[in-house]
Amino acid sequence: MKILVSGAGIAGLACARELGTRGHDVTVVERAGRLRVTGTPIDIRGDAIEVVDGMGLLAKIRKQRVRMSELTQFVDSRGEPVARIPLAEISDSDDDIELLRGDLVRILADALPATVAIRFGDAIGTLTDADADADADADGDGDGSGGGRGGGVDVRFVSGRTGRYDLVLGADGQHSAVRGLVFGPEEDYLRHLGVYLALADLPGEARSEGPNAIHNVPGRMAGVFRYGGGAVAVFQFRSEVVGHDHQDLAAQKRILLDAFAGQRSWRIPELLDAARADPAFYLTPASQIHLPAWHRGRVALVGDAGYSPAFLSGRGTSLALTGARFLAEELERCGDDHTAAFTRYEARQRPYVTFAQGRVHSGRDRMLPATWAAIAARNEALRASGAGAS
Ligand SMILES: Cc1cc2nc3c(=O)[nH]c(=O)nc-3n(C[C@H](O)[C@H](O)[C@H](O)COP(=O)(O)OP(=O)(O)OC[C@H]3O[C@@H](n4cnc5c(N)ncnc54)[C@H](O)[C@@H]3O)c2cc1C
Repeated sequence: MKILVSGAGIAGLACARELGTRGHDVTVVERAGRLRVTGTPIDIRGDAIEVVDGMGLLAKIRKQRVRMSELTQFVDSRGEPVARIPLAEISDSDDDIELLRGDLVRILADALPATVAIRFGDAIGTLTDADADADADADGDGDGSGGGRGGGVDVRFVSGRTGRYDLVLGADGQHSAVRGLVFGPEEDYLRHLGVYLALADLPGEARSEGPNAIHNVPGRMAGVFRYGGGAVAVFQFRSEVVGHDHQDLAAQKRILLDAFAGQRSWRIPELLDAARADPAFYLTPASQIHLPAWHRGRVALVGDAGYSPAFLSGRGTSLALTGARFLAEELERCGDDHTAAFTRYEARQRPYVTFAQGRVHSGRDRMLPATWAAIAARNEALRASGAGAS
């Protein structure tokens, strides 16, 4: 089949790899000008490990493994360690592999068959699903007409190009444009968890042997994470949804700067300067997407686009990987019957999504105590559990 994938993140690249190696004609369209390789380490957990093993990528992924949490301390305003995450909680098992998001993106991209094309700097502008039109017509007046052009999805890209595809997959992340076009506005499906994450590159930070540091003020944290020759400033803060254009970098930076206005302890001012300067600055709300179905007609959603569990779950990447694999396997099994394949994909993936979306709250309380008293209590509890400050 001729398949268009929107988004070259984890879900999109995994779909392209899985579908391309099964003989489909796959094009990926990515809004950014290149692969987006920023991000703190992400986790591959549970059955997603089998998925990357099935792709033949497990050894490469293990080679890039990092153990971030092991090296992470909470620090006070002078940078003195006050607590760290208990070793017992650090996943260092065969059931959890932590690696840099950028490394996983590169590994997946390198594993694409030569037949897969990635078109950067473009995006889907409109899409018309002939089957969905026919269904709508049948529902409307019962005459069964309406498509008449044979099955397919007609796509007009933002660049002005056009194309017809057998299937379109929305793997374009939490603010998925495909979801917006096919299922309607984000607000209808979004559950905000009251937290934002922001990341900024720290090019001036020398590679350090020292631990990564997290500093809390009530309802906010700022941190420095170092790895593999690079370093990133990490921010989290409690906030209700702040409406903004998701493509407007200046607006995204303003949300962070407003959230930390007046905060001057530890390295916060310097880290905010790094955010101001970073052209690849990244900001995301911790929001989940809850949709009753992930497909309509010839269009299906994979990864955060369909079922973001929010970064607080630590499971978005694993869901993207299992989703891509199940979808490709079911298309293979069901042949031309994409409706049956999409239905089976959903049935297999849904339990993983339900599980992941249910696992978010303890992370927020740990990382973002709301008051000074709660920060002190968190540190005390960590020390009492044997997770000292050294
Ligand atoms: C730059 C970046 C940094 C991240 N950092 C972290 C992190 O530190 N911690 C964490 O837990 N999660 C992070 N994530 C999210 C994490 O990668 C996902 O939650 C998870 O891996 C599921 O992946 P996904 O492919 O569904 O979504 P994503 O990885 O978000 O990928 C979506 C892709 O679609 C592209 N895209 C968006 N809109 C369009 C459009 N209209 N047309 C075409 N392409 C489009 C995006 O540019 C992106 O490449 C980050 C995502 C990105 C893009």
